[in-house]
Amino acid sequence: MNVWRELEAYMRRAIDGAGYREVKTPQIMDARQWEQSGHWGKYRENMFVIPDESPNTEDDGPVISGEADWMALKPMNCPAHILIFRQGIKSYRDLPLRLYENGCCHRNEPHGALHGLMRVRQFTQDDAHIFCREDQIVDEVRAFCALANRMYNDFGFTYSIKLALRPENRIGSDAEWDQAEAELRDAVVAAGLATEEYGWGELPGEGAFYAPKLEWHLTDAIGRTWQVGTIQSDRVLPERLDASYVGADGERHRPVMLHRAIFGSYERFIGILIEHFAGRLPVWLAPVQAMVATIVSDADDYAREAEAQLKSAGIRVESDLRNEKINFKVREHSLAKVPHLLVVGKREAEEGSVAVRTLGEKEQRVMPLAEAIAMLQDEARPPDLRN
Ligand code: ZN
Repeated sequence: MNVWRELEAYMRRAIDGAGYREVKTPQIMDARQWEQSGHWGKYRENMFVIPDESPNTEDDGPVISGEADWMALKPMNCPAHILIFRQGIKSYRDLPLRLYENGCCHRNEPHGALHGLMRVRQFTQDDAHIFCREDQIVDEVRAFCALANRMYNDFGFTYSIKLALRPENRIGSDAEWDQAEAELRDAVVAAGLATEEYGWGELPGEGAFYAPKLEWHLTDAIGRTWQVGTIQSDRVLPERLDASYVGADGERHRPVMLHRAIFGSYERFIGILIEHFAGRLPVWLAPVQAMVATIVSDADDYAREAEAQLKSAGIRVESDLRNEKINFKVREHSLAKVPHLLVVGKREAEEGSVAVRTLGEKEQRVMPLAEAIAMLQDEARPPDLRN
């Protein structure tokens, strides 16, 4: 949860800075929404479907089944974001409108496909939809490429960028696919990323059923690749769910919808981070950033005082006052990948100092507690707040 909170805060700073608005949409939506969006026809076997057996008192459209109306846990956030877009009349001046959600989704994956944090049935996407005009697509995709690259660099990943082209099972006309594929390609070229350095390439048949995708494939520390980030331009859903805006000409137009994510899902991204860093997360992400460990019980009160000061300075700290040898404590917390161990004995308690043992370093450094707090605060600062 500590890792999650840091990632969430990091993501919020990024999307706030990039002009998104955060929204929250319901878990369960009427089957008619999924019918209209095309999910009911193409994706139903992956959805958790539940009957809505309460009496239908309002005549609000056709009943899907003869027996009962159906509802489903959302497998995606897109249709709900279109419903938000449709609140009130939008003008061309309102665009681009960027709606972001830490969107919790459910997909009924086969048991055999489930895999640790990497593939789960409930997950939270860092999901956003950018509603824009035709003339804004390339700029929006280009800005997204820059944002995604900056964030992956913050975590020290190497990545490659791929264009996933139309799959066999799809909705929308060939002309729409031709145009959508060309726009993404043009945006990558305009961003200067269509080069070998960025691992640029095209993947036939790999797109979503409603749109082609740009994909970011990360390579972790042991050489495995993971597809995380995506952006896709989509004209099908705005049409199906009747999203429109009033243009400069006073006429109604369809916005283009860009679906995009950077982490993919929080669960999976955390799994990838743990693998990538072999459990040794950078200090800003470490669940426990420092452990105060006593050598003798005479130092217990001082250790508690040090822990309280570190906590009020915003450091995630715990203390280990057990009656164990210090080498035992050092070994245990090193195995748990705690970045800093602050060792205190009688002398440290008298001097108001700590002996800092940093994970992976042989030497320990004795310094005043205040100095250690300042050092930890500096190291715990997230990468986006460093400059
Ligand atoms: Zn979407």
